[in-house]
Amino acid sequence: MRILVTGGAGFLGSNLCDRLINDGHEVICLDNFFTGRKANITHLLNNPHFELVRHDVIDPFKFEVDQIYNLACPASPPHYQYNPIKTTKTSVMGAINCLGLAKRVKARVFQASTSEVYGDPQVHPQPEDYWGNVNPIGRRSCYDEGKRCAETLFFDYHRENKVDIRVIRIFNTYGPRMLSDDGRVVSNFIVQALKGEDLTIYGDGSQTRSFCYVDDLIEGFVRFMNQTQIVGPMNCGNPGEFTMLQLAEAVLKLAGGKSKIVHKPLPADDPKQRKPDISLARRVLKWEPQVALEDGLKRTIAYFKTQV
Ligand code: NAD
Ligand code: UDP
Repeated sequence: MRILVTGGAGFLGSNLCDRLINDGHEVICLDNFFTGRKANITHLLNNPHFELVRHDVIDPFKFEVDQIYNLACPASPPHYQYNPIKTTKTSVMGAINCLGLAKRVKARVFQASTSEVYGDPQVHPQPEDYWGNVNPIGRRSCYDEGKRCAETLFFDYHRENKVDIRVIRIFNTYGPRMLSDDGRVVSNFIVQALKGEDLTIYGDGSQTRSFCYVDDLIEGFVRFMNQTQIVGPMNCGNPGEFTMLQLAEAVLKLAGGKSKIVHKPLPADDPKQRKPDISLARRVLKWEPQVALEDGLKRTIAYFKTQV
């Protein structure tokens, strides 16, 4: 197949491009390089099955493709809050442009949605039928509401225009090719530990997240995209739940060094807990994560040792 990956030079996008090329597909990677890097895809540039297009998803684009994976959007809170209006435009207009293209060329289109659609959840763990608890006017809203609106557009194009959609809700994922200054917790802690700096826990560190290793997630993407039983939304993530204090201690143990833990103020609207209910993915895709946190952290630490 010929497959378009928007945001293909980013952390998840570049790992997905690798997987699709290895599976024998032709890949068009579209990216504006806001948080993506050429270094993530340099090894693919001479591959005749790979094309790179510098373009912004808020502007329309045309390609003859069989599938579209829409991943373009900054994902780390400091990056998506840097220009919040642009973040909403990227999610909403990016979705409209992908859906318009999918409708014209009859391509199957995949939306990288997020556990942030559940906001600060009052149901735990979060199943797909939970509608969420999202602040519509806060610092995180540009991302959360942008992604919620994108989901709305996907389902309206599906109902109104029979567009063949797949909507996946990704929970915190980590691994090689995250940026060292990305701002997300796993890369922050690892880079701090490797540089001998103190690990910055926001708040008291009792808030929880569930961390999925990138290879597990990409396997979930491909299985979900290529089945015809469900269109989503479907949660994808690792249900192992850890406090930020536990994560910091795990990184300190595995990375070594003399760093200490320091506390910094908790950002506004920071969700207190998060853990996916993955029964749907287990049942339909026969998918569940294979990489335990400790193993994934070891692999990610090995990657960051080559970067910092
Ligand atoms: P990332 O920041 O590494 O990748 C995003 C990519 O999109 C980058 O290459 C960036 O340059 C590109 N991009 C941003 N705005 C664009 C625009 N307007 N036009 C074209 N390209 C643009 O982040 P990631 O972790 O790889 O996330 C990829 C997708 O998955 C995002 O849509 C994100 O919301 C979603 N997601 C990720 C996670 C996670 O834990 N990694 C969790 C939930 C959802
Ligand atoms: N966090 C932290 N120290 C950091 C970066 C993040 O304690 O250096 C916390 C953050 O407040 C949140 C959790 O780690 O509670 C996950 O943050 P991240 O930005 O990785 O993802 P998200 O909040 O979007 O789930």
